[in-house]
Amino acid sequence: MREDESTPRHYRVAIIGTGFAGLGMAARLKRDGLDDLVLLERANDVGGTWRDNTYPGAACDVPSHLYSLSFRRNPGWSRSFSGQPEIWRYLRKTAEDEDILGHIRFGHEVRSCRWDRDGNRWRIDTSQGTITAQFLVSGAGALCEPSLPDIPGLPEFQGTVFHSARWNHDHDLTGRNVAVIGTGASSIQFVPQIQPQVGHLHLFQRTPPWIIPRHDRDITRVEKWAYRNLPFTQTLARRSIYWGRENYIFGFVKNPKLMKGVEAISRAHMKRHVKDPELRAKLTPDYRAGCKRILLSNDYYPSLTRPNVSVVTDGISEVREKSVVTRDGTEREVDTIILGTGFHVSDIPIAAQIHDAEGVPLAQRWGDDPQALRGTTVAGYPNLFLLAGPNTGPGHTSHVFFIESQINYTMAALRYACRNRLDRLDPRPEAQDAYVRRVQRKTRGTVWVAGGCDSWYLNSKGNNVALWPGFSWEFALQTRKFDPHNYHLRKETPVRRTPTGAAA
Ligand code: NAP
Repeated sequence: MREDESTPRHYRVAIIGTGFAGLGMAARLKRDGLDDLVLLERANDVGGTWRDNTYPGAACDVPSHLYSLSFRRNPGWSRSFSGQPEIWRYLRKTAEDEDILGHIRFGHEVRSCRWDRDGNRWRIDTSQGTITAQFLVSGAGALCEPSLPDIPGLPEFQGTVFHSARWNHDHDLTGRNVAVIGTGASSIQFVPQIQPQVGHLHLFQRTPPWIIPRHDRDITRVEKWAYRNLPFTQTLARRSIYWGRENYIFGFVKNPKLMKGVEAISRAHMKRHVKDPELRAKLTPDYRAGCKRILLSNDYYPSLTRPNVSVVTDGISEVREKSVVTRDGTEREVDTIILGTGFHVSDIPIAAQIHDAEGVPLAQRWGDDPQALRGTTVAGYPNLFLLAGPNTGPGHTSHVFFIESQINYTMAALRYACRNRLDRLDPRPEAQDAYVRRVQRKTRGTVWVAGGCDSWYLNSKGNNVALWPGFSWEFALQTRKFDPHNYHLRKETPVRRTPTGAAA
């Protein structure tokens, strides 16, 4: 449906994206009785990152009983760490069961959102026309824009190149000479899957990750029966995963030396699977575990010991038409390059599309230092809620838990606005600054700044812009209620009515 430019349709709430954040937000609004909402989705299906990441072996490294919406438990998860197809199905079913599909405008890419100060609303231009909304919620997500490396010659490569989040399923890898660039969370999942199929796999590693065993298994029929018929058993399972993972914070935040325990587990795991000391030396990180995301895999190390795999640690100097050249001058012929180089996470790509009343894009206001009150609202950009905003990423637990905390906060704010007939909520700059200072103080001494690595968690000044530096329940506590004293609030202009009650 193309929106009418002359009289844009107005909604109470517009949501960008239909991943966990967008669908979770819409479901909570619907359950609260709000129907005047629209979800703008650039693709033709729901699912966000779980729709886009179809690479072989794509799965979640947080157990599904925790990595799911608390108000939409799924007793039928087939494995402890579900694969992408099952998580995507869960999200599609959420959209259906919560009656959200009718609110989604598919194929509507958001081009620009601008705050209209006089009209007290957001004007949202999409690839299929314009709408307006009183409140704008971004559920655009952190893992939506692939990060493509700036390697000289890469655009001139004559073979096939694709990013792990845009897997080219039409390109048969059988017998190919493949270069994989990057050894992060995605690569370690697809490398073991493609290794048996390819001719030779050159794995270009810049920084080795710490990897520990992944205790994945089928969920038994008895367990599924119990989760379905005795729901408290699923609550127990969820809570035990949750509290087990919270323990990481003692090492990440309180005392990074505690992470030596994880390093010992990782070293033992590597030693069990990699007998060659030279390869082990290449694969052993030189920074504290946790400084970058700790990864889980049982098949990554074994796959690297196969004769058709080379782990290359000399940096890439250039890509030529049919090869990749490293700084030591070695040229390796390849016909396929797979980029496992991650995403634009810390620069929050949707910020380039969101403008204040003067037209200043949020991305420009932020530079490389994104800041928001409670990771969610931004001074000068009223009635905007950023799910997966700055400092709302977990290094240790389910991102969905953080998204839900932000949804709680957004719900509390919208309810407060409705109860008090407010049409504008704009965080006070001083409240936002104080909050950001608190977060940065909490970050001091954590493994992310003191762990001896470079990561996308930190900006050019070394400030943590991505992660929440504490227990996840602390974040949930501070987003439980709306905090009106931190906001400039504006009362709705009363609608003048004619004696017959019609708006004048
Ligand atoms: P990532 O973890 O950010 O890893 C990117 C990899 O590419 C790193 O090894 C990085 O090396 C390398 N790299 C980047 N630019 C490079 C360049 N120019 N030259 C050479 N190497 C380069 O990305 P990802 O694996 O796609 O994962 C992204 C995020 O997605 C993860 O942190 C995680 O939150 C999420 N994820 C989650 C799951 C899950 O199961 N929940 C699964 C997949 C992904 P350096 O380390 O040296 O920078």
